[in-house]
Amino acid sequence: MPGTVRDDARICRGCWDQMRVPIPIRGLLAVPFRIFGITQSKMNPNICTICERAFRRVKKHRHISATASILFADIRGYTRLSERMDPIELSNVVSAFQDQCAQGIWAHDGIVNKQMGDGLMAIFNFPIKNERHAEAAMMAALDIQRRCKAALVPRVKHLDKGAEAMDVGVGIHTGQVEIGEFSTARSDFTAIGGTVNLTARLESQAAPGEILVSAESAALAPGLTVGAPTRTLVLKGIEHPVLAHVLSAGGCPAGS
Ligand SMILES: [Zn+2]
Repeated sequence: MPGTVRDDARICRGCWDQMRVPIPIRGLLAVPFRIFGITQSKMNPNICTICERAFRRVKKHRHISATASILFADIRGYTRLSERMDPIELSNVVSAFQDQCAQGIWAHDGIVNKQMGDGLMAIFNFPIKNERHAEAAMMAALDIQRRCKAALVPRVKHLDKGAEAMDVGVGIHTGQVEIGEFSTARSDFTAIGGTVNLTARLESQAAPGEILVSAESAALAPGLTVGAPTRTLVLKGIEHPVLAHVLSAGGCPAGS
């Protein structure tokens, strides 16, 4: 069911997909694991803290190359909003945004890899494998747009022009990424590389309510992108102009 987290997994889907090892994360069998600190990950409740923090042991390498779809999202007009709201109200808006995004991402088997205040980065196809990761990222983005509209606009309605400012921009791109632990200060994994940079740049160009999808992602999910308007973008730090497909929750057949 769209928009609902598949929280019925009894074993960690990441450990299963990556190593074929069944790690219980729900039910009675999970109790002894919890005693040793192995619990559901905050990145996705269907993966465990082993795949979140023990990347090197899970993959037997410091990092690996993988094909993934990356999603960046952030609140548009956040700076303006932050000037007009008191800090408590603002932090409620930010947590509601992060919660709604996470629900949309988890419903399509992605992980919320990084949260950066009014923005986040999600990965599809690792550690939960999903052949249709580009489509999953787009479905999650449409879900995010719908959920945030419903949950956030009422919170800023009392502000002059606040509600219009309250929209989310999303960027999605698919390609090779390096996944691993790249910091000695933190033990959780992330993805880096040109694919990740381009996704962040795409997202920065998304107008409020827009989902900008690269041609590489669009080619993998024609059902969602055929007929969508396109835009050619010159992105900072990217040598060639980039063709982006523009989706929006209101205008897409999958958004119904
Ligand atoms: Zn796991």
